[in-house]
Amino acid sequence: MATHCPYCALQCGTRLGHDSGGTVVEPSDFPVNDGRLCQKGWTAPALLDVRDRLRHPLVRDAVGRLVPVDWDTALDTVAEKLWRIRDEHGPDALAVFGGGGLTNEKAYLLGKFARLALKTSQIDYNGRFCMSSAAVAGAVAFGLDRGLPFPVGDLGGAEAILLAGANPAETMPPLMQHLEKADCIVVDPRRTKTAERAALHLQPVPGTDLALALGLLHIAVSDGWCDKEYVQERTTGFDAAWRRAVTWWPERVERVTGVPVAEQRAAVRMLGEARRAYVLTGRGAEQHSKGADTAAAFINLALALGLPGVAGSGYGCLTGQGNGQGGREHGQKADQLPGYRMITDSAARAHVAQVWGADPDTLPGPGRSAYELLDALGTDGGPRALLVFGSNPAVSAPNAAHVCDRLASLDLLVVADFVPSDTARMADVVLPVAQWAEEEGTMTNLEGRVLRRRRLHPPPDGVRTDLEVLHGLAVRLGEPADRYPTSPRQVFEELRRASRSGRADYSGISYDRLDAGETLHWPCPETPGGEPHPGTPRLFLDRFAHPDGRARFAEVDHRDPAETTDADHPLYATTGRVLAHYQSGAQTRRVTELHEAAPEPFVEIHPDTAERAGLREGEPARITSARGTAVARVRLVGSMRTDTVFVPFHYPGPGRANLITSTALDPRSRMPEFKVCAVRIEPGTDA
Ligand code: SF4
Repeated sequence: MATHCPYCALQCGTRLGHDSGGTVVEPSDFPVNDGRLCQKGWTAPALLDVRDRLRHPLVRDAVGRLVPVDWDTALDTVAEKLWRIRDEHGPDALAVFGGGGLTNEKAYLLGKFARLALKTSQIDYNGRFCMSSAAVAGAVAFGLDRGLPFPVGDLGGAEAILLAGANPAETMPPLMQHLEKADCIVVDPRRTKTAERAALHLQPVPGTDLALALGLLHIAVSDGWCDKEYVQERTTGFDAAWRRAVTWWPERVERVTGVPVAEQRAAVRMLGEARRAYVLTGRGAEQHSKGADTAAAFINLALALGLPGVAGSGYGCLTGQGNGQGGREHGQKADQLPGYRMITDSAARAHVAQVWGADPDTLPGPGRSAYELLDALGTDGGPRALLVFGSNPAVSAPNAAHVCDRLASLDLLVVADFVPSDTARMADVVLPVAQWAEEEGTMTNLEGRVLRRRRLHPPPDGVRTDLEVLHGLAVRLGEPADRYPTSPRQVFEELRRASRSGRADYSGISYDRLDAGETLHWPCPETPGGEPHPGTPRLFLDRFAHPDGRARFAEVDHRDPAETTDADHPLYATTGRVLAHYQSGAQTRRVTELHEAAPEPFVEIHPDTAERAGLREGEPARITSARGTAVARVRLVGSMRTDTVFVPFHYPGPGRANLITSTALDPRSRMPEFKVCAVRIEPGTDA
């Protein structure tokens, strides 16, 4: 049976089947993975049989134990408490936290459920922590953002690719086959596996990527690599952007970033000389309190070189989560309605309300962003109840101990998951839901391609789908039953109508077309009476999505991260992923082979820094920021910067990297600054 991997945004094509040993997987020749899978994909069937699979709803009893109950009892308990909290505190006392791994259908129905059944504005999702900065920058620059506005396969024709803060050799290994022919330039404070394979590795001080991007633009213009004709014909705003970049001459950039002038010039020369080139950003450049400006600065560089909207070249963002792209297009984001419409746009509200059979004036406005929502839980005026679908913020949110305190302060925490995640273990009610190969639906991968997720077998007895859960709760909250279909196909049909003429238009896509094997990237509008729209694999080839058809340079300048080092916290900490794990690790840590490959948290540190701190290989270390302490085992890595340590963020307990991370937010994307905070490190095991 043809389907896709349950994990990252590459959404590798797979075929699932059964043999005497159980469920087996093999890669398909789907173009993004072309016969390859990473370790996570190969071991994905093990998820279907995890030992501690949730099989019954659980409700916390009077003495604090989670005890099994039947579904009616669980849903009645949740609905009764939601009614009571809403009566006492108003609808915004109810909140929803969604996930970038939910199917399009779930993301859509979750947003509708929040706004109609709960009547709350308080909904956001963990994708805010993923690609929100690049989304803001892309929308401003191009008038429309889609992670990759071209198919992944186009990367295979490039001669040079700049990867800013992306490590696909570990996060999405099958992508690397598309980068093999190009000279890759990797920007990363850490010598990642991707950097090891690159032609050039620029290793800036954490939090200085923006200065580096400004400097690369300076060199591109000063050294004659700027495509003046392209800038003249296809863009506006160059002069304002240049006013900022002109002050970032190479020697100044070297002083701030630590990247030698020769390496800066070499990077620009490689991009400039290439006939086809790409600039790609990832979380390393985007998860900053200036992440949107940093992504914009890399887009400026790409525009100056004449890359976006040109066949065989371009700018793109490597989305992380499985449905990070689709998850934000259908209404689970605090400021958006389905079709990637802004919730403050009266025409958008009228359109969506009409599809929902609701009064547009009764739709709530924008709510709090993900971290702001978590931070407000249980406070005066903040939400008193939270429903979590497809996320594990107890591990994945910044300043995680504080977030757990806020979760613990709620009157009601409900978690829908298929395993007892760290957040589920804190819940008042746990709802066991179907996973991946147990349900139908669609996902949208990092190139905006809509994919069918298919069901190999039904979920175990006692388990329901998220759509069934939303239906059951909505009815108990007084909503008409037919407003919340439980059939994914039916939800998708409604999603199509809701997205019609929106920025992400799915109205021409159907299950039948996808099942017939058509390749459909959004936008794919309906064409009544005409030939079906073929979808849009490549955006911007003729014009950008602004009314004048031109891309916008952004006027951005460098600023320090929210925290800089001092005597108490003399090092920078940065976070990231390892090959064996996905996100908070709630799924992958339960797969034996993945757990054995990367069983515990570690901290990478330069041997000289370790010696100064009295640390030795394999011993535990305490990494302390202004927010807390994480404990991890020391790994001495000679290629680390001496001013920086690295910790992966997949682990719970005292090794949680997010015990130390910063909650400084980007003012536009509301992205937390996961990628840089000031720390000290010392021997010890006490968290
Ligand atoms: Fe799955 Fe991503 Fe690995 Fe592909 S790269 S097998 S989608 S985790």
